[in-house]
Amino acid sequence: MINEKAYGLGANRSCIRELFEYGRSRAPIVGPENVFDYSIGNPSIPSPPQVNQAIRDILTDMDSLLVHGYTSAAGDLEARTAISDDLNARYGVSTKPEEFFLGCGAAPELVSVFRALAVPGGEILTIAPYFPEYKPFAEEAGLTFRVVPPDIPGFQIDFSRLEAMITARTQAVLINTPNNPSGVVYTRETLTALGALLEKKAAAYGHPIYLVSDEPYRELAYGVEVPFVPAIYRDTIVCYSYSKSLSLPGERIGYVYVPSGAADGKALYAAVAGAARGAGHVCAPSLMQKVIARCARLRPDLESYDRNRRALYEGLTAMGYEMAKPDGAFYLFIKAPGGDANAFSKKAKQKDLLLVPGDGFGCPGYFRICYCVSYDMIQRSLPVFRALIEEN
Ligand code: PLP
Repeated sequence: MINEKAYGLGANRSCIRELFEYGRSRAPIVGPENVFDYSIGNPSIPSPPQVNQAIRDILTDMDSLLVHGYTSAAGDLEARTAISDDLNARYGVSTKPEEFFLGCGAAPELVSVFRALAVPGGEILTIAPYFPEYKPFAEEAGLTFRVVPPDIPGFQIDFSRLEAMITARTQAVLINTPNNPSGVVYTRETLTALGALLEKKAAAYGHPIYLVSDEPYRELAYGVEVPFVPAIYRDTIVCYSYSKSLSLPGERIGYVYVPSGAADGKALYAAVAGAARGAGHVCAPSLMQKVIARCARLRPDLESYDRNRRALYEGLTAMGYEMAKPDGAFYLFIKAPGGDANAFSKKAKQKDLLLVPGDGFGCPGYFRICYCVSYDMIQRSLPVFRALIEEN
């Protein structure tokens, strides 16, 4: 016998994967230059040269048994110290190396945090639009997953709906800023209001309500502030990833930050470590830990993402498309002309323009564009967007 839920998750491809595979199948037929694939979020800027240099240096300078050996489950102290020092210098905070648990990217880190918070009957709330994998991660961990409807059109947080959904069973609220899929960055005002609401509710229910901050896009912001969430709300757990910031998605490296000053902070850290252990975590990739020890202060060069972002935002709004201001990440979330994003995405697909409908992100009526693509593809695709809106 096979676990039915696991089978369902494995047997059904996501809509994003379907579109991506469709694009690949069309390229040899219509020519790759005539496929406009905005489906998948694979970084299109190379890792900073210092990252590749660090890999070469480590392989040359260090004993290979050390480079490739197991590390402690929480990760090398050098890497955790470098991360802590960098955050302290940037945000004027006082994190400590022992508050960091290195993991294999945000996805498994979120799973560990959810498992650590999964008490019988426990719920986690997230805000639409949201990264679709949150649902299987939370449900497999044993939490009830609930979605707060979107704050349209700005995609900050609809506080009255959030407040109404928090109950005595709420273990955590999960946020993602800069956001996939909206590209929106939560303002300091939004985060401050969120912190105040959670403090009030935690006091009312007599137990902590954690804020889980999923931050793979923290470094991808275009001229706006991305506040450090634990400095605003004490009971914050950060899941960070170098997948996008250093363009290392295949290398699987990131960290969980659990402040020791958070409610039950030390026990929570132990529970995150224990949950990771229970899910088969041994250690984060050792070579990558050594890279982070040397490169924690590096930031991406965002020039080409920014050029893409402006070309699309300006080009599409001039045609009449509506979207929230995309200040971060590498996504635009656009209102579907005619209101039906699935129908619109189907029509676009007939023209080999691949757009992801927002239903899976908890926000029907919108579609997502992932602009980590070539600038030339954007230019070639603009007339197709124009034709589509004119047909509506
Ligand atoms: N969270 C969000 C919002 C994402 O968009 C992604 C990946 O695209 C992840 C988590 C998982 O990233 P990672 O590669 O760090 O596991």
